[in-house]
Amino acid sequence: MSAPPAKSRSESAYVREAKVVPGGSMRAAQWFKPHPPYAARGEGCWVIDIDGRRILDCANNFFSLIHGHAFPPILDAVHRAMAGGTAFGLPTESEILLAETLAARNPRMEQTRFCNSGTEAVLSAVKGARAITGRERIAKFEGCYHGAYDWMEVSLDPSPANWNDESCNPASVRSNAGVPESVLRETVVLPYDDPQRCADILRHEGRTLAAIVVDPLASRAGTVPMSKEIVGVLREACRRDGILLIADEVISFRLSFDGASRSFGLEPDLIATAKIIGGGLPIGAVSGSADLMSVFNHAEGKPKVSMGGTFSGNPLSMAAGLASLAHYSQSAIERLNGLGDRLRNKVRDSFSAAGVAASFTGMGSLFRLHLGGANVTGYRTAYTSPEKTQLIRRIQFAMLEEGILLTPNCSGALSTPMTESEISLIADKLVAVVAKQVA
Ligand code: PLP
Repeated sequence: MSAPPAKSRSESAYVREAKVVPGGSMRAAQWFKPHPPYAARGEGCWVIDIDGRRILDCANNFFSLIHGHAFPPILDAVHRAMAGGTAFGLPTESEILLAETLAARNPRMEQTRFCNSGTEAVLSAVKGARAITGRERIAKFEGCYHGAYDWMEVSLDPSPANWNDESCNPASVRSNAGVPESVLRETVVLPYDDPQRCADILRHEGRTLAAIVVDPLASRAGTVPMSKEIVGVLREACRRDGILLIADEVISFRLSFDGASRSFGLEPDLIATAKIIGGGLPIGAVSGSADLMSVFNHAEGKPKVSMGGTFSGNPLSMAAGLASLAHYSQSAIERLNGLGDRLRNKVRDSFSAAGVAASFTGMGSLFRLHLGGANVTGYRTAYTSPEKTQLIRRIQFAMLEEGILLTPNCSGALSTPMTESEISLIADKLVAVVAKQVA
């Protein structure tokens, strides 16, 4: 009888980790069957696992790496900062530079306060909006993710059975155990792709709302651009009812030099960013006009929102963020977005030539695979049944076997070290894998 195949180092690591970490890892490991590859190191757009396998990284740490791994200018900047100490109970000049950089890229980011994650950025913006307006309720779009925070964990992934309330509006549904019932009453859920219903809901609820949180290229709502009609509805409701608009650009900031909002016609009051503005280190930021951002200014002695944090504005994240943005110039963005366009066109053309019932959404450097023939316009058309979710996971895993890392819902993000050759590789492998799996 032949001996059972030797365990890979990744498999052994996973077995060990599952004993001390619920779910087997912090890194969405539960979606990788039978186990995730463990990363040893990264080089540009490649990650090398502890078994020595080179994997093309389209997950880019949940889209936070715009320059891939170990980008020399970021490493140099972090090494220099680290040599002088990692954190102080004092400000450093680097936080001024990063706030100035954001203000120079986007006039709506006149002032900024840093924190350590996108979740914190959105929750701080929401608290700020409540303090400014004196209202408590907020609105968000169905299926849209804005971090791990009670109000934002409403209706992340409702199934068709609980899509509607009694008046056929999107119901506020708890998506995470531990979210209090009261939060459901304080969170109004809007449809991402139904302007008429969105307008009706806002006409009814608008005057109770402190803020509407919006990501105009929401990944869980399909990675489809928000329509001009919805944008128009939001502008009108905010103006009419004094609601603040919070743009969650935690991912979508990468779409253009000044972020996502302006090109979509949104006029946000507060902007939450994170991910690429930290160059691969933990970061979050809330930005807005000096007038609105004064809600975070304790020096004025009025009742204000406290937005502190032991590592907020730490010099390592600031240094990495400065280097990341310095190399994410207009021309670098255009080149990367061009690669994204070519990838989407190549995959779409191949799907239609091969008669594969799948679509490929996205914009700029972001993309997502959908199975079936539906025209994906938002959360409900992007919704995957449990069976379809299994198929998506099988495709993700088959892609990994082919040496390409996607996120668990088969979305991905490009990074600046990628070239036409990586684009062809992703397109060819994806089309072949999808054709085989859906055949
Ligand atoms: N907002 C959006 C749109 C996100 O995609 C994410 C994370 O993926 C967050 C907020 C939360 O950011 P973080 O994971 O840094 O807390």
